[in-house]
Amino acid sequence: MYKLNSRTPEGPLEQKWSNFKSNQNLVNPANKRKLDIIVVGTGLAGASAAATMAELGFNVINFCYQDSPRRAHSISAQGGINAAKNYQGDGDSVYRLFYDTVKGGDYRSREANVYRLAEVSNNIIDQCVGQGVPFAREYGGMLDNRSFGGALVSRTFYARGQTGQQLLLGAYSALSRQVKKGKVTSISREEMVDLVLVDGRARGIISRDLITGEIRRYAAHAVVLATGGYGNTFFLSTMAMGANVNAAWQSHKKGALFSNPCFVQIHPTCIPQHGDFQSKLTLMSESLRNDGRIWVPAKKEDAEKIRSGELKPKEITEEDRDYFLERRYPAFGNLVPRDVASRAAKERCDAGHGVEKETGLAVYLDFSDAIERLGKDTIEEKYGNLFQMYEKITDHNPYETPMMIYPPIHYTMGGIWDDYELMTTIPGLFAIGECNFSDHGANRLGASALMQGLADGYFVLPYTIQNYLADQINVPRFKTDSPEFEEADKKIKERFDKLMNIKGKRTTDSFHKELGRIMWENVGMARTEKGLQKTIGLIQDLRAEFWKDLKIPGEQTELNQELEKANRVADFMEIGELMARDALHREESCGGHFREEYQTGEGEALRNDKDFTYVASWEFKGEDKEHEMHKEALVFENIEVKQRDYKK
Ligand SMILES: Cc1cc2nc3c(=O)[nH]c(=O)nc-3n(C[C@H](O)[C@H](O)[C@H](O)COP(=O)(O)OP(=O)(O)OC[C@H]3O[C@@H](n4cnc5c(N)ncnc54)[C@H](O)[C@@H]3O)c2cc1C
Repeated sequence: MYKLNSRTPEGPLEQKWSNFKSNQNLVNPANKRKLDIIVVGTGLAGASAAATMAELGFNVINFCYQDSPRRAHSISAQGGINAAKNYQGDGDSVYRLFYDTVKGGDYRSREANVYRLAEVSNNIIDQCVGQGVPFAREYGGMLDNRSFGGALVSRTFYARGQTGQQLLLGAYSALSRQVKKGKVTSISREEMVDLVLVDGRARGIISRDLITGEIRRYAAHAVVLATGGYGNTFFLSTMAMGANVNAAWQSHKKGALFSNPCFVQIHPTCIPQHGDFQSKLTLMSESLRNDGRIWVPAKKEDAEKIRSGELKPKEITEEDRDYFLERRYPAFGNLVPRDVASRAAKERCDAGHGVEKETGLAVYLDFSDAIERLGKDTIEEKYGNLFQMYEKITDHNPYETPMMIYPPIHYTMGGIWDDYELMTTIPGLFAIGECNFSDHGANRLGASALMQGLADGYFVLPYTIQNYLADQINVPRFKTDSPEFEEADKKIKERFDKLMNIKGKRTTDSFHKELGRIMWENVGMARTEKGLQKTIGLIQDLRAEFWKDLKIPGEQTELNQELEKANRVADFMEIGELMARDALHREESCGGHFREEYQTGEGEALRNDKDFTYVASWEFKGEDKEHEMHKEALVFENIEVKQRDYKK
């Protein structure tokens, strides 16, 4: 039975982090050289953590399944990264960023963590500028900012629509420096497939070489997971196709609690799904909502004519357009948070005002006003690459006709539970970036994931991990032939043998697609008790069929992407069920978790603070046994908890 202790430091909110740093245990330089740390992941969280810890003097082994650390999913991040610099002089502050983030997350995150995040946000910008990240600048040379949802200030730093790529190049340069110095061993195309515990502590991993299929063992004094989110449970999402939950889920099965799995983010602006053979959805960055206006035809007849091709969007007059976000939320307008904007778009489409010709599932994102006001060149300068991407995919020119958009799965707020020091319920196992249950509560504000990943990697973990490692300086390097490694190695080989030997008829993708459809229909943008109950049964049946009728061509001992996928989909099935259970137990609506039974008269999410102000953390109790839930109560002492209101 776990007793969750967040180990939040005592003292006033603004002093907790500095107090922690002043009083924590440190490891001296000579001892750092004796300690090894495995970092799984080379996205912004993993690369920044690996580089910084190596710079401090630890030995780091850093894994990714891509062919280069530089190809981690973080590279796809488009719009920007938040920081409370207040360069615009528009009233921003560390407290305001903290406040917006807690409110945006619908009061389901830990105050002390969010405050620390806001505090270190400014250091991230300085660090990245120092590395040469080419953030956009104003005419006078100052760093430029734009606005993202859920904020009344402009605090988002950006590099056109390629912010993730530029930040990752910065972190990768820092990592490469350490690889050259011999402090980081960088291992690509190798996937962590299990965690190894020795005497209850994380002491290593089992991996699979994706080219040869060889199973390998690695030992270290601590293991850091920076493996990203589990959005691909839904099959279609904006995430990289390889993004998966395998490392996190296997660690969960070894004792790491998994928190708030039902908190997934639906992003309002994505190119709508087109046809059944699509395997990926393409995001149109939230930054576009700075200048784009979202609307649908006010009259259903007009929407029908648009769908049948009788009318073009430009032919709908101003009076006959419904700028529904501006109408419903005058204060924040098109820049309401993602959960609010997504639900409003769904509501309009469900009411028959959608504009996509086959499904009716799309609304317009229109730049004509902005082009008239600012000129095409300015719009091109700000969003050129996004417009080009949209045109390449849809064959429509967004300078001339409004973009069509619809909400997809985009990010997962749930994840591995960790305490203030980013340590999970397994001593010596840390979780950072998107794979932890994070600082975003039930809904993440735009441009906050990059901030969190880099905060964790550059500025938080390199301190907090020392508080754990200070105790480990006399622990000698481990051998990988201990019974614990032998056992884990054997179990993994059995798992891959089992997958290969099913020799059924159905492809991995057919199972994954079916899982995705079940999830999207019942655990997507709107959830009901009945739908969730049904989902649990449907997933259990699908899982049973998967283990009976899966077909994997090829061999285990070669590059076999079908086998890789199957190993990941097996875990998506399990986490899918837990997401449904979590969503079923949470009898309230908050952030991205919208239970239709719990809404205000105006269709807004209705929280139940009395009964659900906690982090729901699930313990694995064994194969085919139900998970057990443990609660970490959330206490708000520095912010008034109230119904979110973006109208005024
Ligand atoms: C299209 C898109 C645009 C976005 N734009 C923004 C934005 O503008 N601003 C913002 O703040 N956020 C944005 N986000 C969210 C943000 O990009 C991610 O949340 C963030 O980059 C995640 O970083 P990470 O380091 O935690 O994980 P990732 O970048 O997902 O990296 C995961 C790493 O783990 C490795 N890995 C995973 N499993 C294993 C395993 N089993 N073994 C070995 N290695 C493994 C992978 O190889 C990879 O290196 C966007 C997301 C998407 C999808």
